[in-house]
Amino acid sequence: MDIEKQKAALTSVKVDVTSNILSLKSGLESYSNTDDSGSESDVPTDNADVASALFERERNESMLLEFEGRLEEVERALEKISEGTYGICDRDGKKITPERLIAIPEATLCIDCQALEEGL
Ligand SMILES: [Zn+2]
Repeated sequence: MDIEKQKAALTSVKVDVTSNILSLKSGLESYSNTDDSGSESDVPTDNADVASALFERERNESMLLEFEGRLEEVERALEKISEGTYGICDRDGKKITPERLIAIPEATLCIDCQALEEGL
């Protein structure tokens, strides 16, 4: 297992996820700011537009939660690299397979524990 490679992969995921979070957040802020300025031309006026704006807002909020969760995992994985426990399951201390780490660099649980966490 090439830790430096994993670290680089995690760092690039982190940059990516952080920029997604920032753009989602600024998108969500612009929704709440539309009330104040009457000059916005794209303020939805009919019910269909309002419904689709609401739908989009909800979708963005759930994407934001997902990205924030992923960011936490990435940060935890980077922490594990500096602790020297990267590749070791947080739950039962078993080794996480290299295949799994290459596919999901932020994995902090082995595949069995992940399945348990997800209630499968
Ligand atoms: Zn485990």
